[in-house]
Amino acid sequence: MIINNKNRPIIIIGGGIGGLTLALALLQDGHCVRVYEQACELKEVGAGISLAPNCSKVFQQLGVAEIIARQSSVPELGELKNGTTGELLSTIPFVNLKSTFGYPYYQIHRADAHKILLDAVHRKDSDCIQLNHVFTNYSQTEEEVTVNFTDQPSTIGACVIGCDGIRSAVRAQITGKQPARFTGFVAWRAIVPATQLPASYLVEKSNVRVHHQRQFVYYPIKSGTELNVSVFAEQDWKIESWTEKADKNELKALFQNFQQDVVEIIDAINPESCFKWALFDRDPINCWQDGRVVLLGDAAHPMLPFLGQGAAMAIEDAWFLAQSLISFDEIETAFIRYQDARLERSSWVLSESRATGKRMGGDDLSPSTFSDDRAMHAQKMFGYDPVAESASAFS
Ligand SMILES: Cc1cc2nc3c(=O)[nH]c(=O)nc-3n(C[C@H](O)[C@H](O)[C@H](O)COP(=O)(O)OP(=O)(O)OC[C@H]3O[C@@H](n4cnc5c(N)ncnc54)[C@H](O)[C@@H]3O)c2cc1C
Repeated sequence: MIINNKNRPIIIIGGGIGGLTLALALLQDGHCVRVYEQACELKEVGAGISLAPNCSKVFQQLGVAEIIARQSSVPELGELKNGTTGELLSTIPFVNLKSTFGYPYYQIHRADAHKILLDAVHRKDSDCIQLNHVFTNYSQTEEEVTVNFTDQPSTIGACVIGCDGIRSAVRAQITGKQPARFTGFVAWRAIVPATQLPASYLVEKSNVRVHHQRQFVYYPIKSGTELNVSVFAEQDWKIESWTEKADKNELKALFQNFQQDVVEIIDAINPESCFKWALFDRDPINCWQDGRVVLLGDAAHPMLPFLGQGAAMAIEDAWFLAQSLISFDEIETAFIRYQDARLERSSWVLSESRATGKRMGGDDLSPSTFSDDRAMHAQKMFGYDPVAESASAFS
């Protein structure tokens, strides 16, 4: 029997969006929490990120919804067009999401979202986050778990939650080492200052342009002072790092037959701030847990970004896991109940993300298919209430 004792630290490996959301939820309930992060400085790189209504519900519970709202743009409309002809394929009236699902759809710089969570954790416990700790492995007894790091003393806690992303070392110990799957997609990112662009590109809209294995996404962030650009294309190139410089001319060549908005935006990108990232994912697995060790977020279910739901799934997971630890005294029971409550949804979003990537990159750009599809996604993804669902799962 493994009793959940609030005074023994809960050990979180990884201080990304998932790890910090979990830390905040557990600190709020009075747990002792330690987050061990490999980086020597905690700062997110990357570009914009969308935070859909399903994760805003968690932010509300954690007291950070207002500040997220203040630092976000809220699109009125999501518009999907054929990138070469300009034909409108589907729209999502994002402006209705707040009245339909209770929270709007936020678009924010990833670094801002991360910093909001980090500050909130620090306010609750300034010793919570330990930097410069590269997790290597764990061992466990009936009573406790010991965690080892590279060049740092080991630590002991009540349990371990692996929030260490797609290359999770915690996952490798639970499931055995399995390489992530290169999906055949590459993402580019860039941020363009508003001053370099016509104002019409900075209205509160989420713009997606697709054609034959290529997607170009743009939306304003930082109160319309910057345009976030995310681009996806099928390519055989496998370096996975947000700091890997990309060749802007390659991007230009790929999208040369797209409409004027895309061509003009690419022209405005500073070649020094154009980055490229190979996209990997993994097939869903049915076991995220080993005794007092469990996985969360990308460590458990890394997915393609075509539905903009990877971080949202990590945030939903974090809320469920905290509620499960609050509801059950035995850690192992709490972990199994959390895993059982999250498997179906995260696997579904993972497979829908893959299917969406294929559909958007495919040759059949039919408006009716996209409309039905996007409406179903909006209902099932944005309409999901992790707060109510976790209460019902653990009652
Ligand atoms: C191009 C792109 C666009 C995306 N857009 C969206 C979007 O719009 N909306 C959305 O919801 N999602 C989006 N996602 C997905 C989202 O970024 C991820 O799902 C999310 O960041 C996962 O969070 P995480 O905390 O689980 O993992 P991560 O963010 O990967 O964090 C893992 C942390 O663990 C640390 N770590 C790793 N190994 C160790 C170790 N051995 N020891 C200690 N620390 C370690 C890392 O340094 C890192 O800080 C996008 C992804 C991509 C690639």
